[in-house]
Amino acid sequence: MKQKITVFGSFVVDLMARTPHLPAPGETVKGSFFKQGAGGKGFNQGIAAHKTGADVAMITKLGRDSLAGVATDAMDAVGMPKDYLFFNDTAPTGVALIMVDENSSQNEIVIVPGACATITDADIASVEKRIKESAYVLLQLEVNQDANEKVARLAKENGVRVIVNTAPYQPVTDAFLNGCYLVTPNEVEAEELTGVPVDSLESADRAAKVFLEKGVQNVLITLGGRGVYVCSEGKSEIIPAFKVNAIDTTGAGDAFNGGLLTALAEGKNLHDAACFANAVAAISVQRIGTTPSMPTREEVDAFLREH
Ligand code: ADP
Repeated sequence: MKQKITVFGSFVVDLMARTPHLPAPGETVKGSFFKQGAGGKGFNQGIAAHKTGADVAMITKLGRDSLAGVATDAMDAVGMPKDYLFFNDTAPTGVALIMVDENSSQNEIVIVPGACATITDADIASVEKRIKESAYVLLQLEVNQDANEKVARLAKENGVRVIVNTAPYQPVTDAFLNGCYLVTPNEVEAEELTGVPVDSLESADRAAKVFLEKGVQNVLITLGGRGVYVCSEGKSEIIPAFKVNAIDTTGAGDAFNGGLLTALAEGKNLHDAACFANAVAAISVQRIGTTPSMPTREEVDAFLREH
């Protein structure tokens, strides 16, 4: 059984330049490489869910500018419906300006969320029907938080399960977390949100308890190359990551969350969905980039047969 799902979140265009060294203030450096690509946590997770087979409504907000075409082209390339895009007539499409030192791999990043931080009540009202008929809604913390709160409230009131990928970290209210089906922080965000450094099953249990006390029903903490901690229905465990040759882990969390949503929407339990999501993320870390590195369902099924 495949149920409808909704991903509500950010879109930004990644503008990445590699340089011999990062410019000092006032300095201009000639770069050696440039690449533009579709990004933003919401968009990456939506693409991952769509490519792995989910019936997903991608809700985000773009500017009326040429960079908006980066989003719509990326959606067209994978056959994703564009029925749930909002547009801001004045704010620009979000961008991430990424500079990478080609020797040290250190980076400097400026994110301007632009249009995707201007989501209004009227925008949300226009997609209310789709949110209500979804089995799951997946949120991150990269759009204006009042919009996230509004969507979460609407979903909870209508029995739709809310999943919050708490990235990038920002403080959230207890009311926002209360009644959520699941939170999916990474280790750093888990510590920031609970005050508990997570480095073992025991410490993850303590962090999870803080979320459960705030009214979250299930907790999943991604542990990078070590896998994922899952706490559900009074039981907790660490599911190891697949052993692969990781070359670029940017977007690993996005691949994981998108894959997780696909599996949950197919009726898998949290344990099985986390195993599926581990596979989606394991494939993505073996490839360069974010949206281009998201695997198709055929690739995930083949990977799971081999491992
Ligand atoms: P984020 O990118 O949000 O910081 P993590 O680094 O915790 O998230 O990674 C998310 C998931 O990606 C992990 O739970 C795991 O499934 C997968 N993953 C990350 N790094 C590796 C790796 N080196 N090898 C295999 N899987 C990985």
